[in-house]
Amino acid sequence: MGLIVAKFGGSSVASMERIRNVAERVKRMKDNGKDIVVVVSAMGDTTDDLIELAKQTGPELSCREMDMLLATGEQQSAALLALTLNNMNCKAVSLTGWQAGVRSDANYSKSRITNIEPQRIRQELEQGNVVVVAGFQGISPEGDITTLGRGGSDTSAVALAAALEAERCMIFTDVKGVFTADPRIVPEASQLPFISYDEMLELASLGAVVMQPRAVEYAMLYGVDVEVLSSFDDHPGTIITEVGNMERQRIVTGVAHDLNCTRFAIFDVPDKPGIAKTLFRGLADAGINVDMVIQSAMRDNRNDIAFTIEENDLHKAVPVVEKLVKDIGASGMFYGNNVGKVSIVGAGMQSNPGVAADMFEALADANINIHMISTSEIKISCVIDEDRIQEAVQALHKKFALDHIE
Ligand code: ASP
Ligand code: MG
Repeated sequence: MGLIVAKFGGSSVASMERIRNVAERVKRMKDNGKDIVVVVSAMGDTTDDLIELAKQTGPELSCREMDMLLATGEQQSAALLALTLNNMNCKAVSLTGWQAGVRSDANYSKSRITNIEPQRIRQELEQGNVVVVAGFQGISPEGDITTLGRGGSDTSAVALAAALEAERCMIFTDVKGVFTADPRIVPEASQLPFISYDEMLELASLGAVVMQPRAVEYAMLYGVDVEVLSSFDDHPGTIITEVGNMERQRIVTGVAHDLNCTRFAIFDVPDKPGIAKTLFRGLADAGINVDMVIQSAMRDNRNDIAFTIEENDLHKAVPVVEKLVKDIGASGMFYGNNVGKVSIVGAGMQSNPGVAADMFEALADANINIHMISTSEIKISCVIDEDRIQEAVQALHKKFALDHIE
């Protein structure tokens, strides 16, 4: 008999009415002859509410105690779902992370799953139970409760699917699947039937987060097929899988955009070994993540270096960069917040020439100026003025005919 791991996110279990809907859906899957392991998030904003409560205790918040507290959110929804299922005459049992055998390291609040010992789950399945597991939590080697980072129930679900060799991991959420662009910007955006792990990771890093990126990495590592779908209707979702499993490889799969972007330029940087090291080590030591880096051609033994960081890091970055400019003997710097990044992602672009030219042509035709360009094997990103992002996404979506996805 096939086994399915089904994860329901916070919005899918936000009220008792929604928990009942989830229970009905789970019961239908069970009645279709499947073994079902359900993973739940905490109800609605419970995790945020618990964090607010904790803050009222004072400024010092021990990570161990915080994990003890936050893990209760998922235990509530797991028990409520099991109770609801039982009342519908569907046998169900809820388990905490440790009862379910989810072992993790002791990195409280961002702990990683180290292995899963699924004997208890298997026993319960053999008894004919639906097993409801509290997501987002594990148990450290010392036997303390840990949590897996915000959005961590996705990782719980994928890891359980891998350990139980499930036929599929279904992630039920409040969106219908993965789209070719943000439907709020491009109303014609189409839902993708399939997307590869790599493409999904690129899209997530570009701001299109439908699943915790670590969960996608985990799925890729263990070859777990994941379906992202809506818990509010019955439509098929988007399957995240290996490129080789996809019926066709598209040149461009999606257009993503990111407004959380600030550009720095440093002028007349001396052209000698060790300069880039000093600059970027300095930024790294200050905890600032650098995204794109561009160094221009040398003239008179001097270069310009431009890079982008997240807008949230701007305040932290300005004094650090000012100091570094002096340290490396550059002539000055400039920074600007009024930029954003637009990117196209597609596994097929590595073997198809001309994709970058098509992208630049679409932007040129819309009279949009490009400030910076960066590429990876399956992605091309351009930094442009923030107020042109919407137009750029629409133009690229059209150029690559993404409203006609089959
Ligand atoms: N409840 C946790 C959070 O809000 C974990 C999750 O939802 O996956 O981040
Ligand atoms: Mg959540």
